[in-house]
Amino acid sequence: MSKQKRFYLSEKELPTQWYNIQADLKTKPLPLLNPQTKEPMGVEDLAHIFSLECSKQELDFTNSWIDIPEEVLDKYKFYRSTPLVRAYALEKALDTPAHIYFKNESVNPLGSHKVNSAIPQCYYCKQEGTTNVTTETGAGQWGAALSYAASLFGLSAAVYQVKVSMQQKPYRSSIMRTFGAEVTGSPSMSTRAGKDIITRDPRHPGTLGTAISEAIELATTTPNCKYTLGSVLNHVTLHQTIIGLEAEKQMEMAGEYPDKIIACFGGGSNFGGLAFPFMRHTLLSGKKTEFIAAEPESCPKLTRGKFEYDFGDEAGYTPLLPMYTLGHDFKPANIHAGGLRYHGAGTLVSQLIKDGLMRGEDIPQLESFDASMLFARTEGIIPAPESGHAIAATIREAIKCKESGEAKVLLFNLSGHGLIDMTAYESYLNGDLQNYSISDEEISNSLKDIPKVEF
Ligand SMILES: *Cc1c(COP(=O)(O)O)cnc(C)c1O
Repeated sequence: MSKQKRFYLSEKELPTQWYNIQADLKTKPLPLLNPQTKEPMGVEDLAHIFSLECSKQELDFTNSWIDIPEEVLDKYKFYRSTPLVRAYALEKALDTPAHIYFKNESVNPLGSHKVNSAIPQCYYCKQEGTTNVTTETGAGQWGAALSYAASLFGLSAAVYQVKVSMQQKPYRSSIMRTFGAEVTGSPSMSTRAGKDIITRDPRHPGTLGTAISEAIELATTTPNCKYTLGSVLNHVTLHQTIIGLEAEKQMEMAGEYPDKIIACFGGGSNFGGLAFPFMRHTLLSGKKTEFIAAEPESCPKLTRGKFEYDFGDEAGYTPLLPMYTLGHDFKPANIHAGGLRYHGAGTLVSQLIKDGLMRGEDIPQLESFDASMLFARTEGIIPAPESGHAIAATIREAIKCKESGEAKVLLFNLSGHGLIDMTAYESYLNGDLQNYSISDEEISNSLKDIPKVEF
């Protein structure tokens, strides 16, 4: 009998609830703090910026399961379930006894997992009478996902894209505009914050910090406008658990349970999305599974960051988050995995690392592209540069299996495809890419400016 390669769920088998790991954690994460008063923030505080429902989800420590609204499920059906794939060809090339599976989140209209949260965020905004949504985007995956989701619910989307990224990745702004979003390079003259920055430095290239400031200003000064976020916060990861909940059923169809679960790590949403539904069995019934978050060697917050209260953005507008951080003004090297260039780990994952439930692993840029090339040439999919980090970490584990002769079951998340990142592949193929390591001194310098908070 020929071996089954791909496992799908039918529409009626799709999960109908998200998994909220916060409810099952023995040690809850420390609270988010108001940056001015240093007091814990409540739902009302968050709801000034975010939709009310997402604000509630952010601070929900009691309900393990949260219903996916009917209309969100209808939109998920445009592209879900996504396939769970057994990577036989990659296994063969590595000559490993390991069984390698991946969840393919690249098969949706926007090509990355980010749509899974953009859809519910826009849905809740619509329900609550919001007409406009805004956000920032760097390389543009989140902005593209949000623009698509806004169009599904008839919302107007305004996206501030880092000016220099807009020039480097022009196709992503075209995608956003195709779905009807208004895209502005940040810093811009359209906000007070942008004007101030341009007045000080007319040639400012823009950063996520400038773009966040502009998006938050627009949200707080425009009637019926809310801000949305593509990673880091708990409600975003909650929505992403659709990935792991599907994968759990699909692994059952394959008759296996993963020994190791691996995903790349920027702010933690695709990692938590795949890992948390499986981690629930570790928390509730002591199942032994290893959880590995693959981060860039040049931005090593999980392995070398410090656990402190810090801002989520460079400008210092967000709540203070208790997390592993490299400092909010850490300037990561300009690697091609733009989605992984983030200074902090988010509150949930930081608590899980402290409690020994998971670990980070650092991947040099060249190793991630070597892995992506092998994956493309065996499995036929060109991965996003971010996802290449997960593939590299998986290959490391598969090689360990070859050495020990153990047939471990490995599951990784293919968070997106790389078809709009071909400039990165071109640099790799031309031999122009390099690794960036970072010294302890650089890290302790960037940690100097984090706010002093006792906890
Ligand atoms: C944004 C992005 C990431 C990183 O974000 P997380 O929140 O850590 O998942 C990873 N892969 C792709 C393809 C992305 O677009």
